[in-house]
Amino acid sequence: MEIVRIDSLATAFIRPFEGVNAGLIHTPKGMILIDTTSSPAEIKTLFEAVDANPEEVRLVINTHFHSDHTWGNQVFTCPILAHRSCLELMQSSLKNEWSPEALQSYLSDQEKTDPKKADDFRRMLLDLNITLPKQVFEERFEGELGGLSYEVIHLGGHTPDLCVVWLPDHRVLFASDLIFQGRYPFIFDADIPVWIARLSHLMEFDAVAIIPGHGVMCTEAEITALRDYLQETWDLTHAHIRQGHSPDATTADPAYPRFAEQKYERLHQANIRYMYNQIIG
Ligand SMILES: [Zn+2]
Repeated sequence: MEIVRIDSLATAFIRPFEGVNAGLIHTPKGMILIDTTSSPAEIKTLFEAVDANPEEVRLVINTHFHSDHTWGNQVFTCPILAHRSCLELMQSSLKNEWSPEALQSYLSDQEKTDPKKADDFRRMLLDLNITLPKQVFEERFEGELGGLSYEVIHLGGHTPDLCVVWLPDHRVLFASDLIFQGRYPFIFDADIPVWIARLSHLMEFDAVAIIPGHGVMCTEAEITALRDYLQETWDLTHAHIRQGHSPDATTADPAYPRFAEQKYERLHQANIRYMYNQIIG
């Protein structure tokens, strides 16, 4: 993990190898936390790393409903803010893929492939009390804490509820999972054309610091790389479908864009398949 201090105001927890990033904004009246990672233990570790007290957090923002951004929520007693559809998606996940039965079957599968990981996950579940955001908004939330202005802006794309957090006076942008830096993105709840459009929109912020949801601090070149990956994969998949190719024949095409790093290589074919199914509807 790399702890990046931005402007003495914000701390970015950059964790390209451990998983998801998170952000902490310091104000004279307490802290704002952006995303709570995958578990209570994980988010507590981040606070220990910067010698900060979770009880001094005045506001938690969930940028979207994915478990790696929301499952540490229970550690905080302050309000948890999110887009209305984040709350709704968490509620429906609790009845489906986060239900005790679904988590149990996920565990059983994992025991067969990676018993050590399954063991860690089982222990984590014993502690876990999935906690929903209580304060919701539509489109945009503008707030102030200790003289610091912040905006939570609904953009969608990666997920229907995705929001970015913008500090207008400091030009710092927490872009959440609109940006996966240097690796294949996780796209299985995404609207691809919306995502592509939102990546172009991110450039207009003219930010001095951009913190992605996954990967290291990034530049506009890396936003462009992700946008090109999504656009080229989308267009090529369209072309295969027009020619009547099957999903297997489509994913076998070596012309698809690749990321140089081998990390998350398993998502290469899965992403093409997801787009194929989206296009054929
Ligand atoms: Zn996500």
